Amino acid sequence: MPDLSIKENISLAPYSTFRAGGPARFFAEPSNENELTEAFRFAGEKGLDVFILGNGSNCLISDKGFDGLVIKIGKQMGEITSEVREDGLTYVTAGAGCLLSRFGNYCADLGLEGAEFACGIPGTVGGAVFMNAGAYGREIKDICVSVRYLEDGKMNEISASECGFSYRTSIFDRKASKGGIPVIVSMTAALPKGDKDKILKYVEELRQKRTASQPLDVPSAGSTFKRPEGHFAAKLIEDSGLKGFALDDSGAQVSPKHAGFVVNNNGSASAEDILKLIDYVSGKVFEDSGVRLEKEVRLIGEFGGKA
Ligand SMILES: Cc1cc2nc3c(=O)[nH]c(=O)nc-3n(C[C@H](O)[C@H](O)[C@H](O)COP(=O)(O)OP(=O)(O)OC[C@H]3O[C@@H](n4cnc5c(N)ncnc54)[C@H](O)[C@@H]3O)c2cc1C
Repeated sequence: MPDLSIKENISLAPYSTFRAGGPARFFAEPSNENELTEAFRFAGEKGLDVFILGNGSNCLISDKGFDGLVIKIGKQMGEITSEVREDGLTYVTAGAGCLLSRFGNYCADLGLEGAEFACGIPGTVGGAVFMNAGAYGREIKDICVSVRYLEDGKMNEISASECGFSYRTSIFDRKASKGGIPVIVSMTAALPKGDKDKILKYVEELRQKRTASQPLDVPSAGSTFKRPEGHFAAKLIEDSGLKGFALDDSGAQVSPKHAGFVVNNNGSASAEDILKLIDYVSGKVFEDSGVRLEKEVRLIGEFGGKA
């Protein structure tokens, strides 16, 4: 029997790596698929909007919070299993709530090649599938073979080619932007065996690269903007003289370490402060270069009176 606890008026700031944002009217963290279904039943009965949250590492949550039910897909829905199949590949299935770093390290420890890029991305497997997350030349689409997801009360399994992956988007993202609520429940990846020492060394190399170039000790949501075709967002921002720039003393700042990251120093800025800076940066870059920066960070809830 499902035994789901649904809490009220829960601050979402601790659930977002930006460390900003207001409360969820209702909040649930299901432990399994039955509880997930139960959460949807609750939302249906009360006529609530639903938002699916992973690790909140790509979200800017409004200061007004979310006036509905936030369903967090967390570590209780993050089991990992693996099996070697006849084709010699190892098929690793990870629950959507599994942290991507745990998934990447699990694969590396088995001596499997190809998931090293995942080790440093601070999202969940579900969020990574939704976003087609990637780094250092590889993306989820390069390793994923299938995805299970729940939509309108029905569980589905689709192949990677049906997931419509492209740069930082997927069919799940497109469904959500049309008002659907697909919930990714697990992903299966297929990986070949490699040289474990080399794999572990590569994981460490990528970790060092990331630590050297990114402000990992300050709240942020990673790259604020998508990479515009033919350009790098960070370079355009730097060329506009905005590296380290702040509009005010709220704490929202273009990172002095990596211009592609807007950070929330000390977690003191509000979501509105952060968005004001993001909008200023994209406006200035457009003025200077004619290139429109598109946000990679997702805005959740209402901002400035608009959704
Ligand atoms: C320091 C730092 C470094 C980063 N580096 C990278 C990087 O190198 N590469 C990269 O691609 N990203 C990077 N990111 C961004 C972020 O980690 C990824 O986009 C990640 O995939 C988001 O996963 P999440 O679980 O945190 O998703 P969330 O932020 O919780 O959600 C993002 C979107 O996915 C949806 N979603 C989440 N889980 C599910 C689910 N189970 N079912 C359906 N929808 C779901 C949400 O509704 C939301 O729309 C970085 C972020 C930070 C803070």
